[in-house]
Amino acid sequence: MVASNQSGLGRGLYEISALNAIQAKMHKLLSAVGGRIDAIFYCPHGREDGCHCRKPSPGLFEQIGERFGVELHGVPTVGDRLEDLLAGAAVGCEPHLVLTGRGAAYMGRPLPDEFPAGTRVHADLAAFAAYLIEKSAVPKAASAAG
Ligand SMILES: [Zn+2]
Repeated sequence: MVASNQSGLGRGLYEISALNAIQAKMHKLLSAVGGRIDAIFYCPHGREDGCHCRKPSPGLFEQIGERFGVELHGVPTVGDRLEDLLAGAAVGCEPHLVLTGRGAAYMGRPLPDEFPAGTRVHADLAAFAAYLIEKSAVPKAASAAG
């Protein structure tokens, strides 16, 4: 699932068709490597609109939880900005920061205090994915018994 601030839509900087094209490209690139995005939720509002869906507000995450009927507590969420992690942490997601994109600003230094407690840091999205795979790996003995 993707939760994305897209205030450029609300401000008329680009059309929904441009956003759709970007999302179609993401789906295509991901499926070529066996990945998939179940849904993309976005907020079209600007900071001044005072909506509940623009990150760091948790509205997009709440919409995801409601739409898919999932409890978000403890679900890993990853982003490259403080706002991403604050929005996820507000609904109980486990926060992960990547040091690419905007996250590159935090490379080589401790995270500021405003980051959610327990934020884990990864070099990039691939490192985060490797972390998830390792974490979910079932010990051989357990899988043999189950
Ligand atoms: Zn919004």
